[in-house]
Amino acid sequence: MNKNLYRCSKCGSDNIQSYEAIYNGGKSAQTSRTDGISVGSDWSVGHATTSGNSITHLAKTCAPPVKEIYGGCGVFIFYLILAIVVGAALFAIQLIVASLIVIVFPLYKWAKKITGVNAERDVEFSKAYTQWKRSYYCHRCGNRFIINENS
Ligand SMILES: [Zn+2]
Repeated sequence: MNKNLYRCSKCGSDNIQSYEAIYNGGKSAQTSRTDGISVGSDWSVGHATTSGNSITHLAKTCAPPVKEIYGGCGVFIFYLILAIVVGAALFAIQLIVASLIVIVFPLYKWAKKITGVNAERDVEFSKAYTQWKRSYYCHRCGNRFIINENS
């Protein structure tokens, strides 16, 4: 491990911290903060600590990427229920079969699209996550930078 690597790329200070450590520290600060909710004389609702706030704010900016999952599931369920309800209401088995056939094709297209989009998002997420893991914040000058341990 190259020791010089773990210095601010801007000012050279070693007072740096990884996003992960900042984020985890901020999270616990945020949790302890919820104890002291008070209503002020002007009816303002306040949380007790100020230092916790600033940590939390910094932590927020160092939050890891969020993995978004592409749904379309709600549309599918709606479609399925619609097909069954319409079929059952008319009491005709042919209609249920017809409705099911009608949903099979769009369903297949959905499934393909959802799989494709989610695979793309997986790649994007793992890239963003790797970058986040390598991200550092300099407490001296506020510089944000990435340390690539392999270089
Ligand atoms: Zn710096």
